[in-house]
Amino acid sequence: MAKIQMKTPLVEMDGDEMTRILWQEIKDILLTPYIDLKTEYYDLGLPHRDETDDRVTVESAEATKRLGVAVKCATITPNVQRMSEYHLKKMWKSPNGTIRRILDGTVFRAPILCEGIVPYIPGWKRPIVLARHAYGDVYSAVDEELEAGEKAYLVVENEKGEVRRRLIHAFDGAGVVQGMHNTDASVRSFAHSCFRYAVENNIPMIFSTKDTISKQYDGRFKKIFEEVYEEYRAQFEEKGIWYLYTLIDDAVARVVRSEGGLLWACKNYDGDVMSDMVATAYGSLGMMSSVLVSPDGKYEYEAAHGTVTRHYYKHLKGEKTSTNSVATIFAWTGALKKRGELDETPELVAFAEKLEKATKATIEAGEMTGDLIPLFHREGVSPKKLDSEEFLRAIAARL
Ligand code: NAP
Ligand code: MG
Repeated sequence: MAKIQMKTPLVEMDGDEMTRILWQEIKDILLTPYIDLKTEYYDLGLPHRDETDDRVTVESAEATKRLGVAVKCATITPNVQRMSEYHLKKMWKSPNGTIRRILDGTVFRAPILCEGIVPYIPGWKRPIVLARHAYGDVYSAVDEELEAGEKAYLVVENEKGEVRRRLIHAFDGAGVVQGMHNTDASVRSFAHSCFRYAVENNIPMIFSTKDTISKQYDGRFKKIFEEVYEEYRAQFEEKGIWYLYTLIDDAVARVVRSEGGLLWACKNYDGDVMSDMVATAYGSLGMMSSVLVSPDGKYEYEAAHGTVTRHYYKHLKGEKTSTNSVATIFAWTGALKKRGELDETPELVAFAEKLEKATKATIEAGEMTGDLIPLFHREGVSPKKLDSEEFLRAIAARL
């Protein structure tokens, strides 16, 4: 059988530990036998990031701007312990943070659903996609502890040195104060990424804040979203999807009661909390996919989980692991589908869809990795635990 051809290469960002092992196996077992895989390869594994003084991360993000579609393996974000483990020159920043800054993107996380894996909220029949604004608010706030008798002010100074000043609180006992910010440009990019995602994926969208309390701050988010929505309104109406702005409390209630099948755009902190709630409610981290979308339509696909360090140490000892590769497979299929759409190569899109179906069908037939076993309940099917490679071979057998 002739292999499927690609027109434009994908940006391939390799990574670390167990996911690096899965990465190679996915390519060998599920991709290169069927596709004449074209990629521009960047090794974001920690040793190579260290060798290149992290330039490779920047170069891979720039390649994504140029080529438009990337697929990324999970990578280690170094901490003190990793400094000595890998003899690093420096505690390099999170590659995901660097890539996100360069692409000015928004992260969308979506669960991969299979028959037999029932969410903790059984009413959720379709994916709930969560978009988290990744700039500002409490994540880049300035805070300060105060003592009794101190006063905290909000002070704004313009270019001429003129000052506006408002009392926040006069403390008669000890306390704390915090100053945070956001920018119109960042909120506007976030809004564009979200509306674009909703249109491309044909799903309705909720955006939530707390503007009844935070009248100016959250009110500004609400207003910017309203303005940006006007640029997408016609497309929403044409596709028969809706956009709803609502308060975060109301959004929580609506999302829990929904059947899924919607995009929920959240402010930074709300998104941090709610993405963990949604991910947990759907079952396993191994089944959560993630895509970074820039406002000008560049895409970077990855799994939402990390490098699965505990499994990697087992692997190094020569033991078999049963590590879930589904989210990493879906990172590849997401990227291949997008590449195929942009290049108008329907065979590539069809192959990616076939691979997604085969992956789900494998689990639905009861063949899965260990993390899914306790979550699996399907009449007449008793689940069987496969090791990492056996699982990939079971998928290949269905291709
Ligand atoms: P993790 O790699 O996501 O793993 C946490 C635990 O979740 C695992 O020990 C495992 O539980 C379970 N798990 C996650 N993915 C799984 C999968 N595919 N199959 C089976 N079980 C899975 O998070 P972490 O241990 O906190 O972080 C490890 C490294 O990953 C860190 O260096 C961190 O910097 C990095 N990280 C990278 C990214 C990214 O690149 N996007 C994201 C998060 C973390 P059991 O051990 O109970 O089996
Ligand atoms: Mg969180």
